[in-house]
Amino acid sequence: MPQFAQRGGELLVNGQPLRLLAERVGRTPFHAYDRGLLRARAAELRAALPAAVKLHYAMKANPMPALVGLMAQLVDGIDVASAGELQVALDAGADPREVSFAGPGKREAELQQAVAAGVLVNVESARELRLLAGIAQALGRPARVALRVNPDFELKGSGMRMGGGAKPFGIDAEALPALMAQLRQDGLAFEGFHLFAGSQSLRADAICEAQLRSYELALRLAEHAPSPVRCLNLGGGFGIPYFPGEQRLDLAPIGANLHRLCERAARELPQAALVLELGRYLVGEAGIYVARVLDRKVSRGQVFLVTDGGLHHHLAASGNFGQVLRKNYPVAIGTRMDAADTEVVSVVGPLCTPLDVLAERMALPVAQEGDLVVVFQSGAYGASASPQRFLGHPACAEVLV
Ligand SMILES: *Cc1c(COP(=O)(O)O)cnc(C)c1O
Repeated sequence: MPQFAQRGGELLVNGQPLRLLAERVGRTPFHAYDRGLLRARAAELRAALPAAVKLHYAMKANPMPALVGLMAQLVDGIDVASAGELQVALDAGADPREVSFAGPGKREAELQQAVAAGVLVNVESARELRLLAGIAQALGRPARVALRVNPDFELKGSGMRMGGGAKPFGIDAEALPALMAQLRQDGLAFEGFHLFAGSQSLRADAICEAQLRSYELALRLAEHAPSPVRCLNLGGGFGIPYFPGEQRLDLAPIGANLHRLCERAARELPQAALVLELGRYLVGEAGIYVARVLDRKVSRGQVFLVTDGGLHHHLAASGNFGQVLRKNYPVAIGTRMDAADTEVVSVVGPLCTPLDVLAERMALPVAQEGDLVVVFQSGAYGASASPQRFLGHPACAEVLV
């Protein structure tokens, strides 16, 4: 991937040569995240989006504490999806006023922690409202709530749909007016709405359409709200290219669309801040997964590079995290960056299962034992989204460089 520089045939991670980095980590495999690329991505987004739009980091994408600490400085807020993530976000120095907590099936203890911390709870059901009212009363402090809406549309061309139709996420839009009529309960501080139509879309037109429809739905719902909308979270869904032929998302039309929505909001919802919550777009391209070649085998004419890393650290790259047809993530030999791709090989992991594939029949430079294989686009949904205990291999190291 062109984002990472190289020198003398070796990949550089924020200026550090890969072999030296592997020595400083002390072992392979590991995930490495490049601070320079993380900063550049946040700056690129800021430049493309209206200044009035708040940028949140959805830390589900990568909850490594040091990385969350950096992101807390680069964005306006952090979105968490469990009390465990809430703890990391608060430790990272995130301002509780700019932390929101979404996710179905919140436990009562988690809601209690959220109210005590003073974060915004994106409410996903009538049950959560009931529990929050009780908690607010018991703690003697208001529960800050936004209603997560299950919209009557979805994000087109997205990898994962999380809104529209029957969904476990949020509350059906059509059920909200009746629910809001009872919302003047003591202790519940209504702040706005949260909509999240889907994830991993590379189509700017589809994202703009989802933002517009989300905005208009929230505007209709605001007529039934107990108090003015102060926060309108329009979701995210910005994708990154993983596979050959995929085009990078064009931010310009999205920026223009948000400028129009900000102008409308200034008139129609004058107290509301518009919020975007992004996970993979902020961190995905800044991370790599690095594994060492343990063995080079030939089976009936096919070359296999067997590495110490695999699906137990990077389920997504193995094709087993939501893909329908397996495709290769971008892969390189990080210790032979200037050599030509002269042989077709499969890169596999050490697990005793045919699912443990990092690259299937890919053209790469000739690699030997000890070389370092790099999987790009690995900064999101890597270590924390993989079955690290599967087969009892060592856990994955992670470094912020
Ligand atoms: C998963 C999730 C995100 C982040 O999605 P990305 O594709 O990583 O940007 C944001 N918001 C909510 C509510 C989510 O569930």
